[in-house]
Amino acid sequence: MNASDPYANLSPEAAQERRIHDRRYGEVDFNKAPFTIAWEITHACAYACKHCRANAQPQRHPLELTTEEGFRLIDQMVGFGHPILIFTGGDPMMRPDLFDLIAYATEKGLRCSLTPTATALPTVKRLRKAKEAGIRRIALSLDAPTPAVHDDFRGVAGSWQRTMNILHNAHEVGLSVQVNTTVTRFNVDLLPQMVPFIEEVGAVQWSVFFLVPTGRAQAQWMISAQEHERVFNWLYDLSKEAPFDIKATAAPMYRRVSIERRKAEVGEGKPITFQGAGFQYADGLNRPTKGVNDGNGFLFISHLGEIMPSGFLPISAGNVRKDNVVEVYRNAPLFRDLRDPDKLKGPCRTCPYRDVCGGQRGRAYGVFGDYLASDPACVLVAEAIKRGEYTPEGLTPQVREIIFGENAPLEG
Ligand code: SF4
Repeated sequence: MNASDPYANLSPEAAQERRIHDRRYGEVDFNKAPFTIAWEITHACAYACKHCRANAQPQRHPLELTTEEGFRLIDQMVGFGHPILIFTGGDPMMRPDLFDLIAYATEKGLRCSLTPTATALPTVKRLRKAKEAGIRRIALSLDAPTPAVHDDFRGVAGSWQRTMNILHNAHEVGLSVQVNTTVTRFNVDLLPQMVPFIEEVGAVQWSVFFLVPTGRAQAQWMISAQEHERVFNWLYDLSKEAPFDIKATAAPMYRRVSIERRKAEVGEGKPITFQGAGFQYADGLNRPTKGVNDGNGFLFISHLGEIMPSGFLPISAGNVRKDNVVEVYRNAPLFRDLRDPDKLKGPCRTCPYRDVCGGQRGRAYGVFGDYLASDPACVLVAEAIKRGEYTPEGLTPQVREIIFGENAPLEG
């Protein structure tokens, strides 16, 4: 990535996708429509990953949305324009009507992605079928460069190799490929070793998730605020040479780091415009600054139809069985609060980066029990806590240990 051509180091495929996203990103008013919708079509999954956000279960829930209800939901989503629709789970491959839902959404003009689990279900034949139904991108989770750590985390022997095989197959059938990695204390030191594998499978994007304590994910598996900062700086350096796009997911503070690094490169006081995955920033120039965050450019629908700001912030503002999803996104007090930076508490409220970052709302909720509190994974928040300037409710001694990296050393 360089200032004159931000796509210069990307592969042609990754550059093309970024251009499409960047152009569309500028057009969406997040008060009216999300940029991305994740629909958890089932919470059934053959895996039982340690850090599963969805707390997925082996069986489908008897009350999950039916096919007809799914079609009606898609009809409503069209009211947002043409958002990205991610078919997720659980394992979306566990629903027999998956390809009908994809085809219907594609026909209605939604841009569809799929996040299957690395089981035997995503065969080459099914990957091809997904592409024919309209899937543009497929994302799989890879948490380590070797099977030992990944398989332990996923709880299934052989899952690392199977993931790699599916990623290769997806690329070969012409799907664009995204790799998701969840950063925890257990794999943070392995991230640099993962880069060759992201390249090997021809990924257009590496989506680096920073753990949010929700579902089965434990707060004590988070890395400290200082460690987050170190990884963000490393990712920024990597973004300047990697052939794939980099997205820090559930970590909008990466945007602050990227912008500060860019400012330092351009020279203090000079205006910059900067667009990364999920945000755009303009300093002194006539362009809105904004970033996707829970309920602010992002919308989540649970397998039971609950309308939520994200999968990391599991608070329902309505249900698609009785409420209109467009109406809820635009007008529900929860969603409106999340789009109002004046409602934030602590350093996030006064931060100059609040419009482009705003802190990860799900993490504030998961750690402090308050979705408007500041994000404890940000060093600016950690420093304010250390100076005694910010004392959110829920700041227990254990939470302090997590924020400052003083929790028990890892075994082994
Ligand atoms: S203080 Fe809050 S808004 Fe500012 S960079 Fe940190 S997390 Fe983002």
